[in-house]
Amino acid sequence: MLFNKPIIYLAQMTTKYQPTSCVAESPVSPPTEEEMQALWFEQWFPPVLKTDEGDEVEVIQSGNWNHGAGPDFFQAAVRRAGGKVAVGTVELHLRASDWDAHGHHVDPEYNETILHVCWERPAKTFFPATQDFRHVPQVILKDQLVASWELLKPHLGPVLARDLPRARAGRCQEELAHQPAEKVLEIVREAGHYRLRQKAERIGWRIKAVGRRQALWEALAEGLGYSQNKIPMRLLAQRLPHARLQRWPRGKRFALLFGLSGLLPATNLAAFAPGVREWIKPQWGHWWKARSVYDYAILPRASWKLAALRPWNRPERRVAALAALVPLIRALEQSIVSQRENAFAEILEAVSDPFWDLHTTFIAGPLPKRHHLIGAERIGDLVTNVFWPFVCLANDNAAESGWRKSQSRPNRVTTLASQRLFGQAETGLKLDDTLAQQGLIQIYRDYCAVDASDCAQCKFPELIRQWE
Ligand code: SF4
Repeated sequence: MLFNKPIIYLAQMTTKYQPTSCVAESPVSPPTEEEMQALWFEQWFPPVLKTDEGDEVEVIQSGNWNHGAGPDFFQAAVRRAGGKVAVGTVELHLRASDWDAHGHHVDPEYNETILHVCWERPAKTFFPATQDFRHVPQVILKDQLVASWELLKPHLGPVLARDLPRARAGRCQEELAHQPAEKVLEIVREAGHYRLRQKAERIGWRIKAVGRRQALWEALAEGLGYSQNKIPMRLLAQRLPHARLQRWPRGKRFALLFGLSGLLPATNLAAFAPGVREWIKPQWGHWWKARSVYDYAILPRASWKLAALRPWNRPERRVAALAALVPLIRALEQSIVSQRENAFAEILEAVSDPFWDLHTTFIAGPLPKRHHLIGAERIGDLVTNVFWPFVCLANDNAAESGWRKSQSRPNRVTTLASQRLFGQAETGLKLDDTLAQQGLIQIYRDYCAVDASDCAQCKFPELIRQWE
């Protein structure tokens, strides 16, 4: 046994320090979809690929890696034969037929796909097409990698580490790394201040069009619908203006908002639990009389995003919160005029409804305990996106200072922007105040989201250099 040890050790050494090609004795299994995505992210293929129809397609930027639902990469850019640049999403599959098998051919979310990347050539020719009947060019990755899969696989480890990257480092990263931290923070926060004034300006235009109270009503509705249902919520607030709703008692306000939203169940009430039935009945009592007046304005149920939402974010609860806010709008206005952020947040926190505090939908059973109709995260967003921009219209400095003093958690866009601008490295920068977080969003929207040159034509690095 004693003599076995050095032999094993030597064997390990030999394996470790031999070129990888020499040790690949047994065939390596094909990649998983995640490994394929890592190959694409790292761009381990020549810049110009051939589609399976024989056309050349230059990959300008592989795009940002989406680790959630939806297309695998977004904000990718390719140059097609003839020089036309296409910007959109890229979808990867092991088999070409997975495009249809996963339902992408009928899913509008995949209408922006500019390239379908498959691992192997399919036995039968396959033409992927989007839901709007556009053919998606397709490339086979296995034959076009810079080296064989067997050689590349061992190098994917760091890319597939637990904290998967979302975006590649941008050209501005080197420029930012050479600047003093205070200057970088100043640039990011200045972008945040610009964003704050833009939000205020948009509100100002709406005030000119519909008046201050209605503008606040619409902004609150949009904020409650963030992010997936902000458009139907805003439409609801426009079609049922605050001035009209405030004339009616609470029960009728709920009935009109739910009726117009298209979310009030119209099926056989016997299908619902007794407690739910008791809530729906009086709503219909009001709604059937008003329905003919609003028939033209009822939102189709399809305008709401209902799937893959956290129960607290269900639009039914958002509509209920809006209905409950009607009598509170004057107090919210006063808190803005007197610039009392806490008062604004407290009013929202107290919003309550005996039925909707305990329910998330008409179908799910009641919750074991009451839940705030407007949760802490939503209140934070409403303070950021409604309270301070309204304050900004009267007092820019106070609003800027409000954003500077409040904390914001990173979201998908700010994480993406941080990775592009600062990379994975610990920068030591304090970017957790709202002003900085909103600044990252602004920089991402102004520069990264419109870039289709893999940073080559982006003006942000020059802006950093010239910043005084
Ligand atoms: S597009 Fe511009 S701002 Fe974005 S990462 Fe590239 S250089 Fe930086």
